[in-house]
Amino acid sequence: MSLHGPYDSDNIFARILRGEIPSVKVWEDNQVLVFMDAFPQSRGHTLVISKVSQARNLLEVEPEVLSHLMAATQRTARAVEKALSPEGISLMQFNGEAGGQTVFHLHFHIVPRWSGTALKGHGQGGMADPTDQQALAEQIAAALD
Ligand code: 5GP
Repeated sequence: MSLHGPYDSDNIFARILRGEIPSVKVWEDNQVLVFMDAFPQSRGHTLVISKVSQARNLLEVEPEVLSHLMAATQRTARAVEKALSPEGISLMQFNGEAGGQTVFHLHFHIVPRWSGTALKGHGQGGMADPTDQQALAEQIAAALD
């Protein structure tokens, strides 16, 4: 997938938004959904997506949508810090297949980091235990301001 092209309304995140496949939700409002990455690169790896835009990547997104997405990302990162006490947080966002993107619906990754704990490879983390994911999502949601 290049940087430009039609939005595939059957991509995994579009299907999650339509409720066709399950996800472990952290929180949502009328514009964004925040949920746990099913193949986390670290414990607490969270994703932030827009419910209202069909932007595939950063280049395509409407500035007002981006503004709300970034505020939602900051709100979530603050809750991740409170809930999980990481020593650092990596914010990641990939554009186009050559840029490392695998799901072509714009999203931000919030990846908690601890020194001495190596990051798992992007998309190579193995599937997380859904029970653990649910507990993490509840911890993060409880820490939201
Ligand atoms: P990208 O490579 O596009 O930046 O990130 C896509 C992310 O979606 C990856 O981190 C991957 O682990 C995650 N992912 C892929 N399939 C699913 C899924 O079915 N459910 C959830 N929650 N995450 C997924």
